[in-house]
Amino acid sequence: MKRSKNTTNLNVCLPLITQAKKAASNAYAPCSNFHVGAAAIDNENKTYTGCNVENASYGLTVCPERNCISFAVNQKSTIIKALLVYTQQEKLTPPCGVCRQVIAEFFSQDALIASANHLDQLKVWTVAELLPDALHHIY
Ligand SMILES: [Zn+2]
Repeated sequence: MKRSKNTTNLNVCLPLITQAKKAASNAYAPCSNFHVGAAAIDNENKTYTGCNVENASYGLTVCPERNCISFAVNQKSTIIKALLVYTQQEKLTPPCGVCRQVIAEFFSQDALIASANHLDQLKVWTVAELLPDALHHIY
């Protein structure tokens, strides 16, 4: 039986929700109280998590996506096939522009980026959909 692309996307992304939700509970967000978690899975099916870590200077705040990717790189994983962002916001939260550029560094154009929330809503994009024509080292 051939699985549809949507079924494949769900099978990759759904297991990441629990981990991203747990990561969100670790967020350091005294400025915004906006707790965000991320979970990623690589080509060896190893998973990595991250949470947002704010700073009083705001500019030094690091999003969960970048913390998650840094964790994966630190574990010598650089081929990530999916990343999911979890928030308790009614509107699903996609990665910010800075994170999209970092994602483009480590993900293929067809890798999955997903957003989920406490209302069991889920939206999935590809990297190409979120940041077409990303800047790469070849330029
Ligand atoms: Zn970000």
